[in-house]
Formats: sequence, structure tokens, C-alpha cells
Amino acid sequence: MNKYDLVIKNGNIVIPKVGVINADIGIVKEKISAIAKNIEVKEAARVIDASGKYVFPGAVDSHFHIGIFRPMDEDAKSESLSAAWGGVTTICSYFRTGKNYLNKSGPYKDIFPEVLEKSKNSFYTDYGYHITIMNPDQMNEIEMLVSEFGVSTFKYFMFYKMLDLTGAPGSDKYLLLNTSYDLGFLYNYMKEVARVYERYRDYGRISLSIHCEQPEIINAATQYVRQHESGNSLKDYSDARPTFSEKMAIREVEVLVSQTKCPVNLLHLSSTDAVEAGKEVVERHPELNILLEGTLHHLGLSNDIKYGRLGKVNPPIREREHVEGLWQAVIDDDIKTVVSDSACTSKMIKEGDIWTSLAGFGGTEIMFPLLLTDGYRKRGLSLERVAELTSYNSAIYHDLYPKKGTIAIGSDADLAIIDLDKEKEVSVETLHSAQDFTPFEGFKYKGWPVCTILRGKVIFENDKIVGQPGDGQYVKRPVKYHYKNEFSL
Ligand SMILES: [Zn+2]
Repeated sequence: MNKYDLVIKNGNIVIPKVGVINADIGIVKEKISAIAKNIEVKEAARVIDASGKYVFPGAVDSHFHIGIFRPMDEDAKSESLSAAWGGVTTICSYFRTGKNYLNKSGPYKDIFPEVLEKSKNSFYTDYGYHITIMNPDQMNEIEMLVSEFGVSTFKYFMFYKMLDLTGAPGSDKYLLLNTSYDLGFLYNYMKEVARVYERYRDYGRISLSIHCEQPEIINAATQYVRQHESGNSLKDYSDARPTFSEKMAIREVEVLVSQTKCPVNLLHLSSTDAVEAGKEVVERHPELNILLEGTLHHLGLSNDIKYGRLGKVNPPIREREHVEGLWQAVIDDDIKTVVSDSACTSKMIKEGDIWTSLAGFGGTEIMFPLLLTDGYRKRGLSLERVAELTSYNSAIYHDLYPKKGTIAIGSDADLAIIDLDKEKEVSVETLHSAQDFTPFEGFKYKGWPVCTILRGKVIFENDKIVGQPGDGQYVKRPVKYHYKNEFSL
């Protein structure tokens, strides 16, 4: 009888909040059961030699849009495969009713089981969902979504309030109830999330993720840019959604946070203005543990390069000084998580010009390579901090910790073994997403995963996916509520 199912030998283990240690990891079934200076090879059914490599906790890509523009099961298969190549072991994806995704409206008690059913045999990685409440009826389902369906994060889009959300059948609308989606809606939404958070706070953090852009400003600035600049570049698009609109939106959120005490996550901050406003919200509400989130594309791209519509995303790609400001916020530990915000699109889906093209693209696979190249190598970000940004913090803020997010005895054996010297140029061919373009085309990154392990099972090694769609399991959150037997309080 072997004592361990799998042993990772001689790796440099990157443990968030601890540091880098050279040791062996022993895995029994799905869990890490030993971290020791020397585990005997004869005690292991299988040994992976990680000499010279770095063993990170598998990344938790906590901002994703599985199934937004493509059939959900198909999208989950291709994009979680790409994630596995990138050392990502858990995807937390946003879902909402209305246009895109399942093109359905109604109560989540009817629609969410369908989401879970379509996901069931489709993911190579583990996965969870964040839910966008779109109308007052769904708002009454928040507590049920936490306690029964394991959803601990909700979402609100500030710029939806300018859209005609009522939606006649067959129209290009968002298929909502006839309701306004304004600050009054947000106020009620935050009150309800805060109420549920109070009930579940012993188990974790129930929170509201917010896309912060101020819609009236976007409208006015867009009209101005289209009349006066008539350009078709990412710079024009950025001017049409100016950085102060992010700042203004965050200020509005701050007032409502003060009033409601709702824990919030300020998503995909794209500018120094957004970071400055976000830091104020964090400082004023330390008890709510407010999250400032960054993305790969806002850290990796700037709008002086001519990507055109294929680089369109909301909030937009900004000027280089904002990119540097965001890196500073990462270094200073103000931005706590870095995510891909992946939404798999295609050149065809994104047809049109910069104004009419759909926003968004994928990038989950370059999470480690980008952070290791632009953060660790170029800016002195430590490996330990890379592990915090990619896994630990995402697990903490989105209630997956300690099941996910660290390398510790009792935690899931989710690992990304990384060769810091492996260099690769990014292209459609070298990435494994279904997307037929990448705005990161031609970028050379150093530091790529060579092996990905999900709950003790190797799913990627030797430049090959060896896992199956269906290896991934749905993770109910908060994990301390849903997995009471595993994690005693
Ligand atoms: Zn998003």
C-alpha cells in the first residue's frame, strides 16, 4: 500500500503569506496530506519531479464569462481547457438572465439548475458562479442562492441603467422585467446583500461585485467623441468612456456602502482615477474587506497600440500612465486580485467598428506568464505575491478559502507547476482558447505552467491536456457553510 497517491518532489513551493520553501508535497486522494523536507519515493504511487520548478497553488480566475456568446457547454469545454493550460484550477464565472448566455429570463430557482446541468460534464477545472440580479423578483432569491445553490457573490452593472431594459419580444434588448436598473435598484440590492451577509458572516463574506462606470457621463462623452474625433481607435473608445466616469461611479458606490454596509468588490479597475477612488472606499470601510480587482488586459495592454475593435473591452484599455498606475497599485497591495475577465469571442462576433463591436475577449491562459514577466521580472513583484494575486486573495474574497487558494494540509491538491525559464510567444496557435484572435499577439512571456493538478489529478502535463471535461466540479460557496464537515469553525 502506498501512503500517497501522488508526491511532488523537490519543488520550490510558493505558499501565500508564508513564502517559498523547498520541500515535497504528499497528496492522498484529492487533498494535500503532507508537506515535508523529504517524502520517500517508495511511499508514492506516482512521483512528479519538480526540481528547479516552482509549485504554485492552482490559480482561481474569479472573473470569467463562460457561455456569454457561445453555447454554455461548448464554451466551458474550450475555455476551461485553455485555463488548465494556464495553471488555472478554479473558474468563477458570472451569469445573468436576459440577452446572451441562455437568452432566458425568469426566476433563478428555475434557470440556475439549467446552468449547473449544462456545466456538469463540461469543465476541465473546478468552477463556481456569481449571479447578477436583474429585477426585484430575483432580489428575493439572494438568500436561497447562497444557502441552496452555493452562490456567494452577486453582480451589478452601473451602466445598464442607460439601456432600454424592457425588451419587446424579438428586439435587441435585455429581456428584463419592466423595471429601472438605477441607483435606487442598486440601493435595494445592496441592502439585501448586506442583510444576507449579516446572517452568513460566520461562514464567509457574501458580497456584491460592481462594474463601476457612470452611464450618463459615458453617454455624453461618447456623443462628443463621435462628433469631434470621429476616430475608430481604442484611444477614441477610451475617451468616450473617460476615467473620471469610473471615479464618479465608485464615489456613488461609496455613499451607498456607507449607508448599507454592503461588502462590495470593485471590478476590473482600469485607471489611476479608479484606484484612487477605490482606495478611499477600502480605507473608510475596513470592516467590509472591500476588494479592488485588476485584470490581465488593463495591466498588459495600453491603447497606443493599434488593436482597434478586437481590443474593445469595458472599461476600455487606457494610456500607459494608467497601466503604470495599476502596476503600482498591484505592488502596493491595493489591487488584491488579478483576473482574466475572459469572454470568449471571435473576429466575427466582434464585427463592426469600435462603436458597434461587442466588448470583451479571453485571456485566462496567460495569467501566470503575464504576472511573472511583467510583474515578477520587470517590476520586482515577489513570487509569493503572485500566488496571492492569482489564488489566495481570490479564494478569500470569493469564499473558496481554505478549500482553494493555498498549499496547506487539508486543502484541495490544486497545483500549478511552473517553469520560470520557459519562454513562449503568444499567438492564436500557442493559446488553446476557441477564440480566433488575441490582443496579446506577439507578446513574449517567460514563466509558463508545465503541469496542472486538480484535486490530486494531473490534468495538464508535457504540453498536453490529460484531463477530461467533467473532471471539474461545481464548488458551492461559502465553502465553510457548504462543506461544514471538512472545515470546522
Ligand atoms: Zn466581466
